[in-house]
Amino acid sequence: MTRKRIEITTGFVQADYNFWVGKYMDKFYDGLESKQVLGNRCPTCNRVFVPPRKVCGNCFKTIDLSNNWVKLKDTGTLRNFTTTRIAVSEAGKKKTSEAIPIGMVQFDGSDTSVVYPLLDVQEKDLTIGLKVQVVWNDELKGHPRDIKGFRMLKGGER
Ligand SMILES: [Zn+2]
Repeated sequence: MTRKRIEITTGFVQADYNFWVGKYMDKFYDGLESKQVLGNRCPTCNRVFVPPRKVCGNCFKTIDLSNNWVKLKDTGTLRNFTTTRIAVSEAGKKKTSEAIPIGMVQFDGSDTSVVYPLLDVQEKDLTIGLKVQVVWNDELKGHPRDIKGFRMLKGGER
């Protein structure tokens, strides 16, 4: 029996790739590209999901793709928040000196929440229940980052 020599090396391999997000998220991202927030409503329990889902997480019924779409405003309510000193981007992640607020936002008319940065706000001003609005990126690509983050509505109205 002959033994084969194994060499071990370390390093990084860049692998560019594309993947299909599926019909539901495809429609959602198409909406973002025109600054439209789309959710879908379960026809059985009436819950509205953003981002949309194929199967209702509440009653496990399939939500038909051809209808049940709901157009939502770009406003919502801050349901939870935290801060991080790790900035994440397509280029990777890096530590920052300043705390970056991250919020869990429930779009008005939706029963679920999304997680995005909270922009132009101090941590001391954050409270659960704040009304917030989407800040759109200047360049829209049909991508989650079309939403740059959320800003507080004037005066932090609730
Ligand atoms: Zn349901």
